[in-house]
Amino acid sequence: MQKYRVIIVGGGAAGMYCALRLADLGVRGVLLLERNERLGRKLSATGNGQGNITNAQIAACNYFSQTAAPGAVERVLRRYGRDDVLARLGALGGLFSEGEGGKIYPASRQAASVTDLFRFALARGGVSVRTKVRVRSAAREGNVFSVQAGERFLSDVLVLACGGCAAPHFGTEGDGYALAGAFGHTVTPLRPSLVQLKADPTSVRGLKGVRVEVEAALLRAGTEIARAAGDIIFTDYGVSGDVAFRLSAFAKEGDVLSVDFLPSFTEEEIRAALENKAADRALAAGDLFRCVVNSAVGRCILRRNGIREEEAAARLPVRALAHAAKSFAIPVAGNLGFDAAQVTKGGVSMDELDEDLMSRRQDGLYIVGELADVDGECGGYNLQWAFSSGAVAAEAIARRH
Ligand SMILES: Cc1cc2nc3c(=O)[nH]c(=O)nc-3n(C[C@H](O)[C@H](O)[C@H](O)COP(=O)(O)OP(=O)(O)OC[C@H]3O[C@@H](n4cnc5c(N)ncnc54)[C@H](O)[C@@H]3O)c2cc1C
Repeated sequence: MQKYRVIIVGGGAAGMYCALRLADLGVRGVLLLERNERLGRKLSATGNGQGNITNAQIAACNYFSQTAAPGAVERVLRRYGRDDVLARLGALGGLFSEGEGGKIYPASRQAASVTDLFRFALARGGVSVRTKVRVRSAAREGNVFSVQAGERFLSDVLVLACGGCAAPHFGTEGDGYALAGAFGHTVTPLRPSLVQLKADPTSVRGLKGVRVEVEAALLRAGTEIARAAGDIIFTDYGVSGDVAFRLSAFAKEGDVLSVDFLPSFTEEEIRAALENKAADRALAAGDLFRCVVNSAVGRCILRRNGIREEEAAARLPVRALAHAAKSFAIPVAGNLGFDAAQVTKGGVSMDELDEDLMSRRQDGLYIVGELADVDGECGGYNLQWAFSSGAVAAEAIARRH
C-alpha cells in the first residue's frame, strides 16, 4: 500500500492552504482528502458569495479563544499573515481589493474564483486530491498514521483540517472533533457564532425587511458587554446583518440589544431637530421622524411609546423620543444555531497544540483552521486564520521532513 508523507483531512480553506504551502516548499507525497464532491465548497460561499478572504486591519484582538496562551494566535498571524496570503494568491493570478470595513475581496467579487485559484495550483503543485472520501477514523499504528475512509490510507504526518460544525450543509458536521478526540484531545464547549439573533417578535414588529446602518450595544443585566457598528437587517425571527453577526459571538438569551439608529448625532441634536419640527402645529406625529430615521423605524418608535400617528406632533414627548431613537431595546431570544452560523466558537484546546499547531498528545499530528479553539470576528478574519494556521503547520512539516 502506498504511504504518503502527509495526509490532510478536509479540503476547505485551511486544508487547501496547507497543501499549497507544502507544495511551494517542495514537500511531495501530499494527499488531500475531502468528503464533498469538490474542494472548498464553503470557501466558495463566503462573503455572500463574494469571498471576503481577509481584512486590512487584521490583528490578534479580532480573535477569541478560551484555551490559547497569550500571544499564541498573534504568533501564528505574524509567522504567516495577510500580506503573505495576498502575495501568494496574487502570484497565482488573483487581484484583490479593499471594500468597506477593511474587508478584502477578489476583484472578481466571486468567492468561487478564489477556490479555483487553489484547485489549479494544487494540481500544478503535484498534490493528490481525492474527493467524496469521508474519513471515519484515524490512528497511529507503529510509526505511521492509518486513516480509514472505507479504504485505508497511510502517512507519516496527519493534518486535521475538517472545520467545525457551523453550516453543516457544507460538509462540516463536526467529524474533526471525534478524530482529534481519538488522539486524546479535548474539545471546549461549542457554540454557534456569527449567526442571526432571534428576538422577541413584538419588539421588531413592523420592521421586517428594513436594513439600516446603526451602532448597537449588547447589554446583560443593564451592563454593556459588547458594541458593534454596521448594518442591521430586521427579519421575521429577529435581526441579521453585520451588527447581529458581530454581537452573536457574545449574546445569550435574556440579553438586550440596544440599537442607536443615529450614531453620528447626539441625543440633544436629535431632540432639537424634533422640537423644530413639532413647532409646526399642523404636523402629525407620523411625520415627526420623517428624514430623521427610516420611516418604518420611526413608526415603530411611536408605537412603542403609545403614540398614534394621527396625533398632533406638538404635544409629543420629544426628549423621550430622541432617547428612544438612540437606545431602541430588542430583547435577545437566542440565535438561529449551527445550521445558520458562519463559524464555531470553541474547538480543540489550543493549549494541547504547540506553536506549530502540532499536537502535544501525538507527534506528527497537526490541527488547523476552525477545528481549533480559535474564532474571529466577521470581516475576513476566519478565513485568514484558516490560511495562516494551514501555512504555519505546512512550514513546520516541511522543516521536520
Ligand atoms: C455562509 C458562510 C459565509 C462565510 N463568510 C466568510 C467570510 O466572508 N470571511 C471569512 O473570513 N469567513 C467566512 N466564513 C467562515 C469561514 O468560511 C470558515 O471559518 C473557514 O472556511 C474555515 O476553514 P476550515 O478549512 O477550517 O474549514 P472548512 O472551510 O469548513 O473546510 C473543512 C472541510 O473539511 C471537510 N470535511 C469535514 N469532515 C471531513 C471528513 N470526515 N473527511 C473528509 N473531509 C471532511 C468539509 O467537507 C470541508 O470541505 C463563512 C462561513 C459560512 C458558512
